[in-house]
Amino acid sequence: MSTFFYGGDYNPDQWSDEIVDLDLELFKKANINIVTLPVFSWAKFQSSDTEYHFEWFDKIINKITASGLNICMATSTAVQPAWMSHKYPEILPVDFEGRKRAFGGRVKFCPNSEIYREFASKLVTKLVERYGNNKNIKLWHVGNEYDNWCYCPKCQSEFRNWLKEKYSTLDELNRVWYTSFWGHTFYSWDEIVAPSGLSEMWNDNGRVRTNFQSISLDYARFMSDSILDCYKLEYKIIKDRFPQIPVTTNFMGFFKPLNYFKWAEFIDVISWDSYPGVGEPYFLTSMRHDLMRSLKKDRPFLLMEQTPSQTNWAPYNSCKRPGDLKLQSFQAIAHGSDSVMFFQLRRSVGACEKLHSGVIDHVGHGETRVFRECTELGDVLNKLGSQITGSIMENKTAIIFDWENWWALEYSSGPSTELFYLNEIEKYYNALHKTGAGIDFVTPDSDLSQYSLVVAPCLYLISNRNGRNIETYVKNGGKFVTSFMSGVVNETDLAYLGGYPGPLSNVLGIWVEEFDSLPKGKFNTGIPTSSFLDREYKCEMVFDIIHTLNAQSLAIYGNDYYKDLPVITKNIFGSGDAYYIGSSFEQDGIDSIIRKLSPGSDLNIEVFGNVETTLRKNSMDKLLFLLNHDECKNKIDLKNNQFQNLQTLEKHSGQLELNAKDVMVLRLLNE
Ligand SMILES: [Zn+2]
Repeated sequence: MSTFFYGGDYNPDQWSDEIVDLDLELFKKANINIVTLPVFSWAKFQSSDTEYHFEWFDKIINKITASGLNICMATSTAVQPAWMSHKYPEILPVDFEGRKRAFGGRVKFCPNSEIYREFASKLVTKLVERYGNNKNIKLWHVGNEYDNWCYCPKCQSEFRNWLKEKYSTLDELNRVWYTSFWGHTFYSWDEIVAPSGLSEMWNDNGRVRTNFQSISLDYARFMSDSILDCYKLEYKIIKDRFPQIPVTTNFMGFFKPLNYFKWAEFIDVISWDSYPGVGEPYFLTSMRHDLMRSLKKDRPFLLMEQTPSQTNWAPYNSCKRPGDLKLQSFQAIAHGSDSVMFFQLRRSVGACEKLHSGVIDHVGHGETRVFRECTELGDVLNKLGSQITGSIMENKTAIIFDWENWWALEYSSGPSTELFYLNEIEKYYNALHKTGAGIDFVTPDSDLSQYSLVVAPCLYLISNRNGRNIETYVKNGGKFVTSFMSGVVNETDLAYLGGYPGPLSNVLGIWVEEFDSLPKGKFNTGIPTSSFLDREYKCEMVFDIIHTLNAQSLAIYGNDYYKDLPVITKNIFGSGDAYYIGSSFEQDGIDSIIRKLSPGSDLNIEVFGNVETTLRKNSMDKLLFLLNHDECKNKIDLKNNQFQNLQTLEKHSGQLELNAKDVMVLRLLNE
């Protein structure tokens, strides 16, 4: 691809012929080059078991093709028709509380329903046969924002099959699930029920809890796999006929129900929907882009959706201020996106998304602020596209992020209901991001050899094999940082005997005796015993009581019965170092720790204020992205590096100024 995909979701089945014709003109004016459709048209395509209607869509796709637009061809399987749900109620899912759903909403189908899968396959086969040869189709878009865990009898019986496949015997299942606890021994596979609000689990003020972590963890894996199977079914139908066209489905960033690292294997190009919260720090958006890019880090991702201005679901749906659209679009590109796409191209007239903005507003013409900003952005993207697309990021810093660990850590009963995996990930990402380091996300079994620093907050669940992977990494010269509550359980959620942090004990040179926990608002302090920590910092929530074996203590607790015991340790292991941070430190404390360890930016430049920098590379060039997130001008010191501005072709070195909310892309000329 030599240009950015620029466009987004279009729902022409909601519009008259006249409006579609007008829209095609407006798309051209706005420099739009791709439309995604038909995402939710199953009911219009199929009115009974055997009756299909494609003529209406033929007309639309012919118009779009004639206008020269590219097509991101959706499969329409995210919402099954109402008649189908009525005639085949087995398609409708059962929720966590055991309630059978009626038809409504979207992505509300049982992922294990054979009838759903059969009908979805038939529809996709017909779409592929009828439209697959259209040369304007550049991408297939399967389903939409998959999100459909189910607890129905069919899922329960498929769960038993999945378990048989995984564990072979009930003896093995009873062992790894630790069913000797609370008299849970199973004598027949049929005795196993789905863990839900009716059995082992309950919803405790928004935090889902469970009596049996091992069962709930396996159900999470099973559900992620079941939903992935629905995607794979459609993927195969498309690829069998058109292997050269990439296939994707739109992800949602840090989305807990689905293990996206596992899904990524079956996705040709990662795409995702970015909706930054109003007023939230910009590093969080960067973090989500970095996770999405890291799912397939040797290639760019696609920004499949963002809003041109406001959303409709938040408590307060602020409009994007002038300049925000360009800045947020370039933030995605700076982190590896080769597209800028919107939900939605035209604002719908009815239902919940009528107040969600579109490139074309209800007024129906292009004389709006949002349309003008979209047009200007499209123009810039067209000019820069071929110089940026295809380039990737090669980072030296990684954060281990593991969906299975996320599930297990938050299913854990104790030591604190305040412990949320993402909060800890965010703190370390924030600290690394401030140092200018480019950050990848990796799994505990990834090849870590390209990184000079690997950070793994709260790596509670880790297998022996993955423990050895980390050991090898450090032995060969890597820097590794982990934090409290790490190395506690194995992959089936059984605690390691012989001391925490289990398979990480050797590399960290410590053992952890207890995890103390205090209520919100109660703190301890970390007091430096070396120059590693520059001053005292507050720490909270969980307090690991650490004994050093080979490690040295870098900071100690200031209070309580473990006063003077280590809270931060360092172990020299082979040619590398491994650090243990025994409590949840305040952000300034983590910033201070990470400043000592981060390799920082690849380039020797200095930025002031909230200027974000990233680096994308291709075989020819290093491209420096400068993004000013402040409402005022900011300085950048490029030092002796020589750059050329991709847009103006001006050459720069030394001091440079970047306007409020402005963006610059510079090619490095010397090295
Ligand atoms: Zn089900």
